[in-house]
Amino acid sequence: MSGVPFVVIDHDRGVVGDDTRQALAFARACFPELPIAAVVIGGEQPEPIAGADSTFHIRHAALDDYAPEAWGDALHELAVAQSPSAIVATGTERGNEVLAHVAAIADQPFAANVIEAAPGDPPGTPWRIRRLRWGGSLLEDARLDATLPILSCALHVFPNVLPNAAPDRDREARPGAAVVEFVPNLGPDAGRTRIVDRVQVAEGITLTTAPVVVSGGRGVGSEEGFAAIEALAELLGAAVGCSRVVTNQGWRPHADQVGQTGKRVAPDLYIACGISGAIQHWVGMQAAKNVLAINTDPDAPMVTKADYAVIGDLHEIVPAIVDEIRRRRG
Ligand SMILES: Cc1cc2nc3c(=O)[nH]c(=O)nc-3n(C[C@H](O)[C@H](O)[C@H](O)COP(=O)(O)OP(=O)(O)OC[C@H]3O[C@@H](n4cnc5c(N)ncnc54)[C@H](O)[C@@H]3O)c2cc1C
Repeated sequence: MSGVPFVVIDHDRGVVGDDTRQALAFARACFPELPIAAVVIGGEQPEPIAGADSTFHIRHAALDDYAPEAWGDALHELAVAQSPSAIVATGTERGNEVLAHVAAIADQPFAANVIEAAPGDPPGTPWRIRRLRWGGSLLEDARLDATLPILSCALHVFPNVLPNAAPDRDREARPGAAVVEFVPNLGPDAGRTRIVDRVQVAEGITLTTAPVVVSGGRGVGSEEGFAAIEALAELLGAAVGCSRVVTNQGWRPHADQVGQTGKRVAPDLYIACGISGAIQHWVGMQAAKNVLAINTDPDAPMVTKADYAVIGDLHEIVPAIVDEIRRRRG
């Protein structure tokens, strides 16, 4: 296959997630010389996707809502028609799921969590890829022997802001960019998994999208100890997170856990209260732009790796910060 690379746009009923822009940045890094085609599967006709040189819209009644097999099938049909040089997506749950289906249908390998990829030299030889393994604690170099490389980029490694884009142009579509419609001929198996109902379990600020996360670990000491963490989070418009020790103790639900077996977060500020910074926790918040550690132990990995640290008892420090914010706000 030899055409333009495809970037799958992750959207939820037409709302494009910021994470999908990481795949556009990844594609630009892998294919600096080539135009990039964004692919929007299902929903209403989208606007041209900013950061892409062209946009395909795959339209079909079976694609009205997210349906992984149908999305994969439809994307495969477009790939057969257009012969892309690669298909990439951000390594979100949906991105990985759709690419896995495409890879299975196309009988091609699928590499997830990629952070670098380059075509083989000479052309036609396997691609060289580097990817994150074991929750980000291991870098793996591999060869990808594929006629159609299918890759997801590791979440939060590439920026949501596109490289080389002027800040004010970054979210605008390319002048003159058009949306090309494609209607697939989906098979009867395409819609085996369909959404029949959705229940919103969290309103407002969520852990994965919050600009600030205030997180507590074993040092918090109890379920009740999280009252001060919650008070600080509320004042900062933040979400509350925690370590696995906390969920194991039953102090917070697993939905609040950050880390290898919890959520990956990338806030502007991550405040780690009484968290040692074990690698399995660190990989879940290493994409935070700033880290503030509050810990009694100056040698705790969270403290030594943090941008800022306050050494002391969180049971004194967190209420003191809360009081000071309230005092300053009157
Ligand atoms: C396969 C696997 C997957 C895992 N996945 C995850 C995961 O997704 N997320 C995760 O978090 N962990 C995960 N873990 C567990 C991880 O290895 C650590 O055990 C865990 O992160 C430690 O939690 P903690 O930092 O809260 O506790 P600890 O390591 O016990 O650290 C407590 C910290 O609190 C400080 N402290 C104590 N009292 C106070 C106080 N009064 N004021 C201030 N500081 C205080 C201490 O100095 C210490 O640094 C995983 C482990 C494995 C093996």
